[in-house]
Amino acid sequence: MRNKPKTKTVIFVIGAIIFYGLIWGMSNHFVRSEQRQQLIGLGSEYRTALTTKTVDEQTASWQADFSVRVVSLPAKGQSELAKIARNVADHNLVNSGTPFTKVQYQNQDYLLYLVSAPTSKKSQAVLLQPLRRVSRNYAAIWWSFSVLYWLLVALLIWLAALRLRDQRQKLALMAANVQATSQQAEAEPILLTPDDPFFDLENHLKELHHFVTTELADAQMHEQGLRSLIDNLPLGVMLLNQAGQVEMMNRALGTILDVPVAKKQLPDETYVEYVKTYALSRMIEHALREPQVKRHQRRDIQLVGDEGRFVEADVITLVGSPDHNEADVKVLVMLFDLTDIKQNEQMQLDFVANASHELRTPVTVISGYAETLLAGAKDDPQHSQEFLTTILEQAQHLEALIQDILQLSRADQEMPIRWQSVNLDQLVQHELQLAAKEIKQRQLTVTVDSKHYHGPTLSDQLKLEEILKNLITNAVRYNVSGGKITTHLATDANQTTITVSDTGIGLTTEDQTRIFERFYRVDQAHSRQQAGTGLGLAIVANLVDQLGGTITVQSQLGVGSTFTVKLPLNHVA
Ligand code: ADP
Repeated sequence: MRNKPKTKTVIFVIGAIIFYGLIWGMSNHFVRSEQRQQLIGLGSEYRTALTTKTVDEQTASWQADFSVRVVSLPAKGQSELAKIARNVADHNLVNSGTPFTKVQYQNQDYLLYLVSAPTSKKSQAVLLQPLRRVSRNYAAIWWSFSVLYWLLVALLIWLAALRLRDQRQKLALMAANVQATSQQAEAEPILLTPDDPFFDLENHLKELHHFVTTELADAQMHEQGLRSLIDNLPLGVMLLNQAGQVEMMNRALGTILDVPVAKKQLPDETYVEYVKTYALSRMIEHALREPQVKRHQRRDIQLVGDEGRFVEADVITLVGSPDHNEADVKVLVMLFDLTDIKQNEQMQLDFVANASHELRTPVTVISGYAETLLAGAKDDPQHSQEFLTTILEQAQHLEALIQDILQLSRADQEMPIRWQSVNLDQLVQHELQLAAKEIKQRQLTVTVDSKHYHGPTLSDQLKLEEILKNLITNAVRYNVSGGKITTHLATDANQTTITVSDTGIGLTTEDQTRIFERFYRVDQAHSRQQAGTGLGLAIVANLVDQLGGTITVQSQLGVGSTFTVKLPLNHVA
């Protein structure tokens, strides 16, 4: 392809030379026919001069005027000219039919013309004139023409070379733009006029670039969307190639398999780096080794590891081409974390067991005492009073238990928050008022510090009432006689803080971590004596969570406890 322009140039130059030669030949032909006409004219003058006998005068002047030499035939003498004339005549090179011939004399070409007189053969003569050439006889015109001609040829070649270079540059730019398109880079604009031979091509390329760019951008968007979707799926997803190398895995899988983030997505790593559980490894191995046997395997598996997570594992064999080409086999591993569900199930089972146990105890006591009363103790006023008091206490405990269970089940159902303006200061005072009797009995000193509270607070009054009721009841219940209860309320830029402190029996570090569990009661003689259900703090934690807040406890055994509730600041409209 690269040689084509050169070949064209060579052909053009050869053509130019041939054309030049043609013009040269035609010009010479023209000049020579003119020369022949002149010689014919002179020949007829010669014949006329023969009759008037002035031939010598005539021929003498011809030499000077036209460089024409005349040799009468038959030629005599040994001069070169005579020899030539003789030779021509002897060999009959000219005759009346072909009176012209070309001869050489003194290293020059001459045109020889036979003048034959009509009267006798003796009056024949030959006229010799230097052969005319356009380059000699019309030198100025011819050379000017030649110079102009070759200049024009050179100019045309130069213009063609320029055009070729220009086209090559444009083609190179277009090629670069095509490459830029494939590499998703910016294409350089090429300005072409509509008469340019590349105008249509460039327009098509532009359209192609635009199409490819938008399609690529679309595809990237889709891919990004898909990737972020997969990455944010709660389901753990991992894609393996035929060699078991991890081609893709999402965040959830990292969490489920407990893989450090930095360890993720190293090239050439196989699933063995991540999967440490034998049962799961076997499923994957099976899918890789025998892709045709079972395309979809599903099992519930407990993973090895600190957390001992339960997962539902799906291992799916993906075979790409219809002819089951082995290289196209991929294995998709999906892990659905069942740990929370299992834990929830377990919690519910525990809750039912605990609730039944807690409910049974007072019922057993009540029925026992009732039976004793019926068996005759009712007639003993002292015992009957004591037993009836116990029955009442147990019935009240039962009621409290049922109340708390209902409350907890409501909290579990996440009753919607009824946003309203709540004055926490008043609410604390109200709850303290409700506990006033017990506070008085235990001779407790109560302080409410709300200097830094800038209410009202946008919250749910009923939920806050429940939270405060439980915290204050506990502070009273687990306090020592003559102890103190301090309630702090504060608002800052971000949150409202409620603290309820007491100077009561306090909690061990282990108990501090467990008191928010359902039915958990610190198994101390002191604590057991109190009529608690073990559900109060579980209800509080649940409600605080619903309000978007946090609850913490700080406590020291024998010194006292402080419960701190932090609620996000919701502005009253
Ligand atoms: P309860 O109805 O038994 O009070 P809670 O869930 O309110 O149930 O409390 C769980 C346990 O936490 C209580 O049984 C008690 O042992 C302990 N506890 C709660 N509040 C305090 C406190 N202010 N001081 C010491 N112990 C407490």
